[in-house]
Amino acid sequence: MNSTIHSSEDDLVFLDEPDSEEASVASKPMQTWRIMIIDDDPDVHSATTFALGSLEIQHRALSFLHAYSAAEARDILQTETDIAIILLDVVMEQEDAGLQLVSYIRKTLGLTDVRIILRTGQPGYAPEIDAIRDYDINDYKTKSELTRTKLYTAVTSAIRSYEQICAISASRRGLEMIIHASTELMALQGLQNFAAGVLVQVSGLLGLNTEGFVCARQTPVEQQDEGELFVIAATTLYEGKLNQSLSQLDTATSSIVTRSLALRQSVFEADITALYFNNVAQKDFTLYLNSGLHLNDMDNRLLSVFCGNVSVGLDNVMLTSRLHNYAFYDPLTGLANRLKLLQTLNETLLTSLKSHSALSLIDIDHFAETNDALGHQFGDLLLYSVAQRLSNTFGEHCQLARVGSDTFALLGEDNLVCPDKILTLFNAPFDVDQQEVQLSATIGLIKLDEYDGDGSEALKDTNIALKRAKMNRRGGYEYFTRSMGVEIRERVLLMHALRAAFEHEKLFLVFQPQIDMRDGRVTGAEALLRWKTDDGRFIPPDQFIPIAEYSGLIVDIGEWVLRTACFELVHLRSLGYTDFQMAINVSQVQFSHPLFMQSLNKALEDTKVPPHFVELEITESMAMKDPELLIKTLQQIKQLGMSVSIDDFGTGFSSLSHLQKLDVDKLKIDRAFVNEIQKNSSEGSIAKMIVQLGQNLGLSIIAEGVESEMQANTLLSYDCHIAQGYLYSKPLTRDDLHAWLATR
Ligand code: C2E
Ligand code: CA
Ligand code: CA
Repeated sequence: MNSTIHSSEDDLVFLDEPDSEEASVASKPMQTWRIMIIDDDPDVHSATTFALGSLEIQHRALSFLHAYSAAEARDILQTETDIAIILLDVVMEQEDAGLQLVSYIRKTLGLTDVRIILRTGQPGYAPEIDAIRDYDINDYKTKSELTRTKLYTAVTSAIRSYEQICAISASRRGLEMIIHASTELMALQGLQNFAAGVLVQVSGLLGLNTEGFVCARQTPVEQQDEGELFVIAATTLYEGKLNQSLSQLDTATSSIVTRSLALRQSVFEADITALYFNNVAQKDFTLYLNSGLHLNDMDNRLLSVFCGNVSVGLDNVMLTSRLHNYAFYDPLTGLANRLKLLQTLNETLLTSLKSHSALSLIDIDHFAETNDALGHQFGDLLLYSVAQRLSNTFGEHCQLARVGSDTFALLGEDNLVCPDKILTLFNAPFDVDQQEVQLSATIGLIKLDEYDGDGSEALKDTNIALKRAKMNRRGGYEYFTRSMGVEIRERVLLMHALRAAFEHEKLFLVFQPQIDMRDGRVTGAEALLRWKTDDGRFIPPDQFIPIAEYSGLIVDIGEWVLRTACFELVHLRSLGYTDFQMAINVSQVQFSHPLFMQSLNKALEDTKVPPHFVELEITESMAMKDPELLIKTLQQIKQLGMSVSIDDFGTGFSSLSHLQKLDVDKLKIDRAFVNEIQKNSSEGSIAKMIVQLGQNLGLSIIAEGVESEMQANTLLSYDCHIAQGYLYSKPLTRDDLHAWLATR
């Protein structure tokens, strides 16, 4: 083999080759452009290397491979790679040896990148035009034509083509990656990511620092009409145009895009190109490209090929983007759904937008009833028209979403997302199915500026505010406050803990004695509920009773208290305390429960306690709630033989006429009024009035919270004899009570 392969240079090539597969071929630090000279005339070899030897193209020198026959060339080509140009003699062993070699290179070896320049000694051996096209032959020159300058030009332009072809192969690999990755990309941000990827690919393809942007129609949901085109991705130079609509761009820029859209094809101009990407969905997707220099026909052809390739990927993207829409939009109203809202909300919380943003939940009052009464179809139309009105007012500036069946969410600047702006929308009736429907809404809001939770927490807290607003007044609003959140979250936690404690029998009763102050005789005790947690803390009943009431748990707990207190009373009677009265607190929720009387009966039956030693304490405020029910229930209780006292009397002041109608036995003066009885003070007159009132109504009186002798004496002077308080005893456990009673 007399071919001179510059092996030392080859080694360098391999040493410096990047190990990353992704690097584009164009940017490979290939040290030289490898040029293969195939000619049976050694003089041609030396003349060519002499002519080109010092040439540098794109800062790279040339290196040469030599073959002196077609056969030798075949051998070399089987092992050598990265050859940029083949300078090929047409006539060698045979007249058509050169053309056969071309066919071998392109077809058999499948080398499509290498550029081929045919040379011939004599004119008349020129290949057919068809062969030039079919075999992708770059140039055809007679040797006499190939002056040094012409050879320069031919080689330079062939290298440039080679470079671009390598780039497009690389970028085709990149495209495969885009297409492959598009499914995953879509899950995040759909078309935008894809568009940004396309921009990067175009730059890579041309091997230039091209600037540009991508326009696409943004049509989130099927029902919406064709939207405007928006700039959805841009390179640095055009970043300012991001999210602008086509009509907002200057005409110099937009005109070529508009033309490409109208023609539904790419438009090539001097340094500006608009690439049109066809797709099955027929959604407009155009790339504006400012290459900064005149692209030649070759570039433009490459770009067209590129468009063809991308369009395939685009179809995929459009498809996934539609799936994406189903995942992020509400099909009924076309608004974003909860997931989408959360996305925007999380983004807002991470940016400076946070400092002046607010979130609101808008709940349509009595929607469920309307839906039931007028049908679901009507309900759907109603929601649609509410969505329309919200969207007309806020759509452009805020993120609007439907987050529940009749609940909408609005996220935006806090001067827009505020109660009066939202609630006035409900002043005018809505047009639903040719009927005018007057609606009202209740809203909960949260200001995000000082909020430190994430999106889903913010949404939950707004919901807390909404619930609070609904509890207060329909058609009103409530801003979330930190205490609301703490309170509610703690309440929920406490509720779970309370349920568990009750189920595991961790609740117990204590008993606070009641005394006749005249002689110190024990008349009875009040049963009070206690909860000691596993870590030894006592949760005050003032805290957990309201939760038990709120959750309905009080019905079961109350029944347990009743039965346990009755059993204890039976026990005390068995110990000899036969004149002992047990006072038991009954909550309003328990009292108005339909099975309350039944549970009372059952407790009496099961414990066999004599009913007239049992006293039920109900609160005064409760006595005011549902007078009819109360009067009826009180009668039934009295028929059973139990007595009833009004607890905390004087705090939730009831009308006297009302009190007269109630069949109760006793008033319990609230601790607050007993507390007012201080030395040298004319206060305490309320306690005195209550005593007088009781006497007038023929009711007995008990004072609670008696802590000092002075209070006891004062009460005695008012003619109130019975008392309960720390002066005599704190609430005692069962065993302590027995011990305490034994010492009396
Ligand atoms: P209440 O029915 O007014 O009970 C009297 C409260 O005053 C008790 O608090 C008792 O420990 C406290 N007390 C008694 N003497 C004094 C005193 O001299 N000074 C002071 N500062 N306080 C005194 P407790 O046990 O914490 O109960 C608080 C409230 O929890 C009760 O108020 C009652 O409304 C409710 N509660 C307790 N047990 C039950 C129950 O079994 N069922 C229901 N529904 N509610 C209960
Ligand atoms: Ca009580
Ligand atoms: Ca009380």
